[in-house]
Amino acid sequence: VSSSPSLVPSTTADLLPSASPSPAAIAAALEDWNREMPAASVSIDPDVLRALSRDYAPLCPAGTPAALIRPSSTDEVSTALRIAHRHRIPVVPQGARTGMSGGANALDGCLLLSLERMKRILAIDTLEQTGTVQPGVVNAEFSRAVAEQGLFYPPDPSSWEFSTLGGNAATNAGGLCCVKYGVTADFVRALEVVLADGTVIRTGRSTAKGVAGYDLTRLFTGSEGTLGVITELTLSLRPAAQAPLTAVAFFPRLGAAGAAVTSFMAGGARPSLLELMDRTSIEVVSGYRDFGFPQGTEAALIAQSDAGPQAAREDLARFAECAETQDGEVVIADDPAEGRLLLEARRSVGFATERLGAFLSEDVCVPRARLVELVEGFQGIAAEYRLTTTCCGHAGDGNMHPTLVFDPDDADEVDRAHRAFDRVMELGLGLGGTITGEHGVGVLKREWLARELGPDSLRLQHGLKALFDPTGILNPGKVLTVRQP
Ligand SMILES: Cc1cc2nc3c(=O)[nH]c(=O)nc-3n(C[C@H](O)[C@H](O)[C@H](O)COP(=O)(O)OP(=O)(O)OC[C@H]3O[C@@H](n4cnc5c(N)ncnc54)[C@H](O)[C@@H]3O)c2cc1C
Repeated sequence: VSSSPSLVPSTTADLLPSASPSPAAIAAALEDWNREMPAASVSIDPDVLRALSRDYAPLCPAGTPAALIRPSSTDEVSTALRIAHRHRIPVVPQGARTGMSGGANALDGCLLLSLERMKRILAIDTLEQTGTVQPGVVNAEFSRAVAEQGLFYPPDPSSWEFSTLGGNAATNAGGLCCVKYGVTADFVRALEVVLADGTVIRTGRSTAKGVAGYDLTRLFTGSEGTLGVITELTLSLRPAAQAPLTAVAFFPRLGAAGAAVTSFMAGGARPSLLELMDRTSIEVVSGYRDFGFPQGTEAALIAQSDAGPQAAREDLARFAECAETQDGEVVIADDPAEGRLLLEARRSVGFATERLGAFLSEDVCVPRARLVELVEGFQGIAAEYRLTTTCCGHAGDGNMHPTLVFDPDDADEVDRAHRAFDRVMELGLGLGGTITGEHGVGVLKREWLARELGPDSLRLQHGLKALFDPTGILNPGKVLTVRQP
């Protein structure tokens, strides 16, 4: 595969099916929205629109939206879409815009459809062990609410204090606990979705089991706003987990930490968390708070087991053995507060990296056996392109976030970041991995998705998009290119 800095589209013109909507179409849509929707939900304030026009991903183009609608109910979402459909206005659904792939970025002349006002927890059912929520509920708020009922919602992206459950479902978010419990899709039992023309459908089931028909719930989960707008979610819950035990190991080389992960998992381990941080990640979080990391360490592995007091101790003893074989120095956190502090350190890497400059957080997932090659390969790419980088991630899943830091005002550095990004994608695919373990494709990785899937599978994906969104108004140009190659 040849590496080219042009694989990420440079303008939003590449994202729209044809030209942006005409001023007449936008004016007609605005007239209808203003007539049929509550006045407070519609905004055309340019400052507001500009502030909401992009997510967390740099290098991705963002256009100038025509309007913002913040609906409060499914009916209002349906009305907004029906009108957009009538006037062929592209619609970009938005949660908290913490996405890392440009999926929530505006297109020229689009409607931004923010779900942030739909933030009610509708029910927590302890018998069915489910929670039903509107899409704008923030992950951590829901997790805390179900914990009060003795239940547990495992999917926990590092952004859990900010990102919404609707956004988590739309991206099929992963997180720290996924190594044991699975990703968001494993917990989505049913959805209410508004289709492109405003039709409201329900997918999935209210029962513990059910296999009637094709699994549309799974299809919408991870569809990044390109097939429908999620307006309600029923999420499976588990009984509260046992209090976890935590250990941390410090390594003299990044590759040694990767090797410890491989041997630990190969021994049949099922930790509830296994996270890796490289030296720069440790330095960047230590810059804003003392998390107790020793000076000069090249990598840290944080492991948790919630298998119950005795079994967890045995899990961590096996972890210590694997780490020590790789020259790791292991500390068992006897005090639960120490364990929580270590997790806070890991969760802080993303936001702390902002202090270094603009950053592109990658999301490659490889088979666990290739983890060492991934992290060492990334070190080589960072050196070759002379970029500051961090590398942390969900090592137990083989899902790492090699991150490129650059100065957006330095054209040469931006160019090197583009090239390094393409090399990371090549590296991941070359190791038998995927271009995205959890952040999604968005705008950033459309071309790489085509390479990962191959032409036959890609054709089917375009067919699905055309079936659900025949006029192409739903988040066009995201995930798939607007025209079938
Ligand atoms: C510091 C930091 C750490 C992160 N850590 C993780 C991590 O550990 N794991 C992980 O998976 N991700 C992580 N992310 C990425 C991001 O938080 C997730 O992708 C998250 O799921 C996005 O949720 P959101 O509410 O911000 O959605 P947005 O960014 O607003 O939207 C994401 C996508 O979903 C679509 N969308 C949003 N809401 C809806 C809806 N109701 N219906 C249909 N489509 C919708 C949008 O159009 C867009 O394509 C992290 C991000 C940051 C900034």
